[in-house]
Amino acid sequence: MKNLSIYVHIPFCVRKCLYCDFLSFGAGEEKIREYFKALWREIELASLEHGSYQAVEDGYFVRSIFFGGGTPSFPDSRYICDTLGHIKKNFNVSPDAEITLEVNPASAMYDKLVDYRNAGFNRISIGAQSLNDEELKGIGRVHDSKMFFETFENARRAGFDNINIDVMSALPDQNLRSYMETLKKVVELRPEHISAYSLIVEEGTPFYDMDLNLPSEEEDRQMYHETKKFLAEHGYHRYEISNYALDGIEEEDAIHRDSRCTWEYDKYECYHNKVYWKRGNYLGLGLGASSMVNNVRWKNLEDIREYIEVMTGESSFCEEYTSHYANEVFKKLRQEVQELSTNECMEEFMFLGLRLVSGVNTIEFQKNFGRNIREVYGSIIDKYIKMGLLEESGDNLRLSDKGLDVSNTVMADFLL
Ligand code: SF4
Repeated sequence: MKNLSIYVHIPFCVRKCLYCDFLSFGAGEEKIREYFKALWREIELASLEHGSYQAVEDGYFVRSIFFGGGTPSFPDSRYICDTLGHIKKNFNVSPDAEITLEVNPASAMYDKLVDYRNAGFNRISIGAQSLNDEELKGIGRVHDSKMFFETFENARRAGFDNINIDVMSALPDQNLRSYMETLKKVVELRPEHISAYSLIVEEGTPFYDMDLNLPSEEEDRQMYHETKKFLAEHGYHRYEISNYALDGIEEEDAIHRDSRCTWEYDKYECYHNKVYWKRGNYLGLGLGASSMVNNVRWKNLEDIREYIEVMTGESSFCEEYTSHYANEVFKKLRQEVQELSTNECMEEFMFLGLRLVSGVNTIEFQKNFGRNIREVYGSIIDKYIKMGLLEESGDNLRLSDKGLDVSNTVMADFLL
């Protein structure tokens, strides 16, 4: 059986944050109900291709599920728990799958967190962004720091022993001192995982047209360097450019190493995100969700009315689901379907894999593409090794500390 990860998009939010360019919006109860009905139909149809209807030898084993958004904690928890139930019923979900839910402190109340835990979620990702109330207000978040602390405590009380906290640097009116105060308070809570991203002002967001007092590029770099240093001093190892985890390799985990993945298993590093960086198979369900299965990429429709119509409208009614019927629906649902060429796969292997601190594995490259990595990228590899930006470590090729700091420039050179 092949490994598969599933992403589920929940596009609803209380209101739009000023920097947000994700596919998200507000909605009333009726729209939410219609959306979940459509999503459950998509789950059932997708299972004909990738779910438990497949013969074992051609089938997929689901190793991770990630509910993102939007704000998955915004709708009533029964929608979220039932969605997970539908996935478990229709797909072969591994008993030790990592199952993550993104939550917003303004809507993840204790009772909801208990429901999520009982339904089988075993990892929670809390969007804190900052623990400075002025900064939170400035970026348009609906929560404050008090709500965040309550959510964290409630998540622990509900039984979550694997928690991620998202923090953001380079926010308007933020300085190194206020950023480090946030980071310090986060570390005191000892979450198992911390994601630390710096704000990028994207076109089309309210921030793009506002006159913002942003930290200078130098201050931004300082925040980035201090994050690395501070988190390392407090026991968080960096495993990807912006992601840090407590050490989670224990003796008992060793049994997973061969069965679950081809890379070293560390239970606090986010397995699901590593699937993206390692180019594993992932199936995106819901509005605008992206997928890549067997080197074919696609993206679901982004218009919620169209999505609901395609999945549940009269024209798509059918008494019995067949593969033929599912294919007809998918033709309408899935956009930008693209079968990747070998060159595109090699490029992705390099620029996604180099985001990981462990880098890319040269044996895996040979196995996937039937060519030696140096035959394809020899001159670029030598150039960056000479510059001290790339280094060899056993069978792995990885960016050095200096290389990770200028990763975008180096990665761009791996485009063929
Ligand atoms: S909570 Fe997240 S998805 Fe929703 S508007 Fe804010 S940044 Fe966007």
